[in-house]
Parts: sequence; structure tokens; C-alpha cells
Amino acid sequence: MSAEIIDGFAVAAELREKIAADAAALKASHGVVPGLAVVLVGEDPASAVYVRNKLKATAECGLKSLEFKLPASTGEEEVLALVRRLNADPAVHGILVQLPLPKQIDADKVLGLIDPDKDVDGFHPVNAGRLSVGLPGFVPCTPRGSQILIDKILPDLSGKTAVVIGRSNIVGKPMAQLLLSRNATVTIAHSRTKDLPAVCRTADVLVAAVGRPKMVKGDWIKPGAIVIDVGINRIEVDGKGKIVGDVDFDEAVEVAGAITPVPRGVGPMTIACLMLNTLDSARRSVGG
Ligand code: NDP
Repeated sequence: MSAEIIDGFAVAAELREKIAADAAALKASHGVVPGLAVVLVGEDPASAVYVRNKLKATAECGLKSLEFKLPASTGEEEVLALVRRLNADPAVHGILVQLPLPKQIDADKVLGLIDPDKDVDGFHPVNAGRLSVGLPGFVPCTPRGSQILIDKILPDLSGKTAVVIGRSNIVGKPMAQLLLSRNATVTIAHSRTKDLPAVCRTADVLVAAVGRPKMVKGDWIKPGAIVIDVGINRIEVDGKGKIVGDVDFDEAVEVAGAITPVPRGVGPMTIACLMLNTLDSARRSVGG
């Protein structure tokens, strides 16, 4: 039997509509328009596409965006000064510095300077700590979006087993924290994990955030499991570029209970959750 396809594109569209309505209500009640500042340093083509998509979504949701495009030669101090200025600007509720940054700029230093209460990417160590101890804060957008998709299929994870493949600070670790907060029994797998297929076969919820095209095969999946494929990998098929996930979709769809496709799965949820984090920040700024 074929799995249910989790339509991240449709869920994200629904979420963006709700954000637009809530943003309009915030403007009517408090005269506040959620503002997102996006900083792009250099000309990395993939980063330019990501930033363009984020700015488009911001406009669609009725949020305000401020774009700061700096040349690749920009020095670290200039970027730090810009972050300080944005931290102090009350019209800015969210600050996003697009990664990667050019070599001469220490990304940890820049991200660490962002006011944790404007850190809508959720990368600041303070927000990682808040998530870890269960305090309100910003959750990184990709895990937040993935968890919303999981909640739609299986709202109660008590007694369920979850496996997250990948332990990055931006996806794997916060994803594991979210699943734990939902009472799942969580395993984090990574490149040193022994017999990864056997570990994956224990999962009622399997999240793949690895960066290896089609690595997770059908026989790694417990029948009926929810499979969330975070991977975005560009490969060549018949001389043409194609985007695939970390899961071998054609095999997995025959075994899983529900699965996200790539594209139109987790990707659109990531951007929608950036909007949601910016809205949350603006609401908090007026005591909401
Ligand atoms: P990282 O490269 O930071 O982390 C990858 C993780 O996968 C590491 O923990 C690594 O283990 C683990 N890993 C690598 N190879 C293996 C292997 N053979 N077996 C088991 N584990 C392995 O990647 P990110 O977390 O940033 O991103 C992961 C994927 O998600 C990428 O494809 C990225 O493009 C995609 N992505 C998608 C987003 C979206 O919006 N859909 C947003 C962000 C990322 P170790 O720690 O031991 O090295």
C-alpha cells in the first residue's frame, strides 16, 4: 500500500494565510507591522534564491521586510555594526543573516550578536538553550515546520519511537528536542552510528536531515512509519539538474504510512515558519 503524501506546500500555504490574517489583526490592534531584516553578504547564487523566496513570502504575509545586500568584500566589523543597529531598531522584530558568510567574517560571532529576542532563525545559543530547557524562545524554522507536519498526522507521540538522522545545530538537534517535548522516545543518529538501517527500523517517526541523496532505503523503514525528509540535494539525471531528498522516495512510499516529498515537503514549511517566528516576535514586543 502506498503512503499518504504529506503536502507541505499546501500546509505552508494555509499557514501563510493564517499569518497574514494575524499580522493584519496585530496592525489593527497595536499599529505594529512585523518587520524582518534580511542580511545577505556576497553573491552566492543559492543564498540569493533563498533570500528572494523569503522576501516574497514576507510580502505575501503582509509583513515588512528590510533587505541589506552587502558586497562579498565586506569586513566583519561592518556586519557586526549593522547587526547592532538592527538590534536597536524597534521596527525590526526579526533579524536573519543568510549563511554562509564570506571567509573573513566569523559567522558564530555575527549570529551570537543578534538579540536573542529577534533571532527568528533560532540559531542563537540562548534560543538553543531555551528549547533545551523548555522555555519559550525561537525554534529553528526547519524543525518547527517539520514538527507541524508530524503533528498533523500524529498529534500524540507518547509511547512512540522517533529517530532523527543528523545532529546539526540547525536541524537535527532542535528536531530531536521538539520530538522529546512531544514525549517521543528519541534517538539521534549520525555518521558514527552503527547499523543505521537497523536503528531507523525502530522508528515510528523517522526524520532524515543528512544531505546525502536517497540514502534512506525502503527496507530501513518500519511499515506504517511517518517519514520526514529534510534533505535538499541537487543531482544530475540525464544531464538535467534535479532536487531529491535524503530518502529514496520511490522505495519509501511503498512502506511508510505517511511521507513528505522533495520538493513541496519540508522546504515550504521552513519559509512559512520564518514568517511565523517573525509574527511571534512582533506579538511579544507588544506583550502578546
Ligand atoms: P549538516 O551537514 O550540518 O549535518 C548533516 C548531519 O548528517 C551530520 O550530523 C552528519 O553526521 C550526518 N551524516 C552525514 N553522513 C551521514 C551518514 N552516512 N550516515 C548518518 N549520518 C550522516 O546538514 P544540515 O543539518 O544543515 O542539513 C541536512 C540536510 O537538510 C541537507 O540536505 C540540507 O540541504 C537540508 N536542509 C533543508 C532545509 C529545508 O528547508 N528543507 C533547511 C536546512 C537544511 P556527523 O555529525 O557525524 O558528521
